[in-house]
Amino acid sequence: MKNFLSLLSLTALVGWSGLAASAVNVFACHPEWGALANEIGGDRVSVYVATTALQDPHKIQARPSLIARARVADLVFCTGAELEVGWMPVVIGQSGNEKIVVGKPGNLEAANYVPLKEVPTRLDRSLGDVHPLGNPHIQWGPQNIQLVADELARRLAYIDPAGKAYYQGRLASFTQRWTQATKRWEQEATALKGLAVIEHHKELTYLFDWLGMPVVGSLEPKPGVEPTSSHLSELVDQQKTNPAKLIVITTQKNPDAAEWLSAQIKVPEIALPQTVGGTPGAKDLFSMYDDAISRLLAAEKPKS
Ligand SMILES: [Zn+2]
Repeated sequence: MKNFLSLLSLTALVGWSGLAASAVNVFACHPEWGALANEIGGDRVSVYVATTALQDPHKIQARPSLIARARVADLVFCTGAELEVGWMPVVIGQSGNEKIVVGKPGNLEAANYVPLKEVPTRLDRSLGDVHPLGNPHIQWGPQNIQLVADELARRLAYIDPAGKAYYQGRLASFTQRWTQATKRWEQEATALKGLAVIEHHKELTYLFDWLGMPVVGSLEPKPGVEPTSSHLSELVDQQKTNPAKLIVITTQKNPDAAEWLSAQIKVPEIALPQTVGGTPGAKDLFSMYDDAISRLLAAEKPKS
């Protein structure tokens, strides 16, 4: 027991010194940004990820533990486009940390650096739409990831000028590997082109657009509004005129509606990770894309 305790305190000590040695404390709102911060920041950053892949990113709540983490953060790295509107303003405000308020270099909102899809021409929150500024689920566009990586490297160098060359080197390495991987994914996914899908929420829109997969419906009647029986019936009817070949949800969703529709329209239903950690295979940004594409390809293959 004594040995166990001293091992524990040793681990705590090493853990602490590891944290203290890092130049930049990053508070990442979601796992994809935590993964990207590790790619670009390497040993010079200590990354705290505020949420998991199995949480609904629209429904996170401000908690004292998150506020405590934000208090010591040098960089808050979130999606923006109001995805975190329900909790981050509170977390930042309560933290009392001036470095991370919106508009400061210590506050990076990824969506500001990416061309957003589905920007509404008419804002009507009364319909329950949780995407008032456009689709915030940008982690599924490889070009988006690159644009955000570029800005992240600039921010890290601004916050930690001594690490500038280090961050630039890691960005160059990441860019090379990401460009190569993107080409490989595009080749692997040729068989998916034109495959019509029904999604649950509009959280894979960037992925489907990139791979040329038409989205013919969503299980949600509006982004953020749970599937209703009348809307699901419409999707059943629509199958006659505008058929889907696959229903694709993410692993954090309740699969009931997808399973029901799958049985009705005799179309397979699969789940992809919504972000890093959403499936056992999705361990970082690269394997998250690998995993999603291999799951789509496996579902697309005709069953013998
Ligand atoms: Zn959403």
